[in-house]
Amino acid sequence: MSELAARLQQCQRRLARAALAAGRNESEITLLAVSKTKPVDAIRAAVCAGQRRFGESYVQEAVEKIAQLNDATLEWHFIGPIQSNKTRAIAEHFTWVQSIDRLKIAERLSAQRPAHLTPLQICIQVNISDEPQKGGIAAADLLPFAAAVSRLPGLHLRGLMAIPAAGGDMDAQRAPFAALRTLFEQLRLHHPQVDTLSMGMSDDLEAAVAEGSTLVRVGSAIFGSRA
Ligand SMILES: *Cc1c(COP(=O)(O)O)cnc(C)c1O
Repeated sequence: MSELAARLQQCQRRLARAALAAGRNESEITLLAVSKTKPVDAIRAAVCAGQRRFGESYVQEAVEKIAQLNDATLEWHFIGPIQSNKTRAIAEHFTWVQSIDRLKIAERLSAQRPAHLTPLQICIQVNISDEPQKGGIAAADLLPFAAAVSRLPGLHLRGLMAIPAAGGDMDAQRAPFAALRTLFEQLRLHHPQVDTLSMGMSDDLEAAVAEGSTLVRVGSAIFGSRA
């Protein structure tokens, strides 16, 4: 088994244990492998080990890797900050965008989504720890923002994403995830199709699963630390 396959398997075991501890079925939780800054060969090794869903944060790098891999069975999620001049490339090459926090960007992605593709699957990013330097809308703005996003024909609203402040013990990590889950439940009352709660990374996936995460975004625990 390749080193990468072993790390991927370790990560799946962590997820299974976290689900068990939370009394949840592990099949409710999707593993997104975050391959930003990692070479195509590392992604290929993950694909060989059965991984199909990948997250990327830098548009140019991602588009090049997607073209080199040229594998229509892979599902690409954009999870980084979005500049207006990059929306067309995102709309053309990705299946999901998890980092929506400005209406102008959402409108451009909708208008630029090619007609022959299914609508872009969207998560709204929430700045759940209220950190001024971080992306995401304020919790108080969620419902009106979601209403506007859900009217855009090229997008399909699926849920919420957040990147809480790092560090802390399990209880400290759970608090922002619990807050995001509450927002998710409110959102679902207005948008019943919403089914994705994207939270949890390499260092806090157990806390996220305990609070109801349905999608964890794991980079360094699979691919090794980034330079
Ligand atoms: C880089 C990144 C991750 C993965 O972080 P790790 O700590 O390496 O698991 C997850 N989500 C987002 C939005 C990221 O930018």
